[in-house]
Amino acid sequence: MRFDIITIFPGFFAGVFDHGIVKRALAADLIQIEIHDLRSFTHDRHRTVDDRPFGGGEGMVLKPEPLVDAVESLRLPQKSARNGTPESVILLSAQGAKFTQATARELAKLERAVLICGRYEGVDERVNQLVCDRELSIGDYVLSGGELGAAVIVDATMRLVPGALGNQDSSAFESFGQSDEHFPADSDSPPRSTHGSGGILDYPHYTRPAEFRGLAVPEVLAGGDHAAIRRWRRERALEKTLRNRPDLLEAADLSREDRAFLAALARQTPDFPVN
Ligand code: SAM
Repeated sequence: MRFDIITIFPGFFAGVFDHGIVKRALAADLIQIEIHDLRSFTHDRHRTVDDRPFGGGEGMVLKPEPLVDAVESLRLPQKSARNGTPESVILLSAQGAKFTQATARELAKLERAVLICGRYEGVDERVNQLVCDRELSIGDYVLSGGELGAAVIVDATMRLVPGALGNQDSSAFESFGQSDEHFPADSDSPPRSTHGSGGILDYPHYTRPAEFRGLAVPEVLAGGDHAAIRRWRRERALEKTLRNRPDLLEAADLSREDRAFLAALARQTPDFPVN
C-alpha cells in the first residue's frame, strides 16, 4: 500500500516513520510513504500556499490551486471515476467523519491513500469538492495541522496491511477488533485472547515479574486453564469497556454470557455506567 502525504511541513515527518512496525513494513516494501511539499506546486516567487478568507474573519486558508495540482500530479483516476477503485484521497479535517478502527480496516484494503494536511483555518472547500473522496477527523478536538492526523492514519492503517504485524491475528484480538465470526477463536490453542474483541476494548496485560510492588499477577493467568483465562480476559475487557467507553457497548458483538456479566456488574457497582 502506498501513502502520499501532502503538507506544507514535509520536515514534520522526519523520524515519525523510522520506528517499529512502520519502519519494518517500509523496509520490507509492504508499504511506501511519499511526502509531497505543497510549496513545490506553487507558481509565484513567494511560493504562496494561503490567502485571506472570503467573507472576512480570522486567519488564512490554504489556496485551492497548489493542492489540486499536487493531487493531480499523483495521476490517480479522476474523482468521478474513483468509486470502487483502490485509491482514495482523504482530507484531514476536524469537520470530517471520525477515523476509527473500522475506517482503518477499510483503508487497509486500498492500494493507495492520499492524505491532505490542512493548516491555518483550513482548506478551501473546493479542494474537498474537486479531488477528495472523504474527510476524516482523528478526534473531537482541533489540531493546528493535519500532519499528526496523517501520521495517525498511516500508523493505524498500515498495521492492518497483511504481513505488517508479525502475528496477523494480533489485530483481531485487540481493542476494537472484529468478532469471532471474522476470526474464529481456536478453543484448544493457548488463549491469545478471549475472542475477537467484537468492538470492545482490550483486556489488561501482564508480564514478569509475577509480583511487583506488592501487586501480584492475577492467579488465573499463571495456571494453564485456557478456558478460564479466556473467560477472565473477556470479563476484564467488558469491565474496562463499561468503565471507560460505555458507548462502545451499544454496537459491540456481545454474547448472552457477556450481557449477563455486564448486568451483574451494573447491579453490584451502582456507580458504573449502566448499559
Ligand atoms: N477551522 C477548522 C475548524 O474549526 O474545523 C480548524 C482548522 S485546524 C486549525 C487546521 C488543520 O488541522 C485542518 O485543516 C485539518 O487539516 C487539521 N485538523 C485539525 N483538527 C483535526 C482533527 N481533529 N482531525 C484531523 N485533522 C485535523
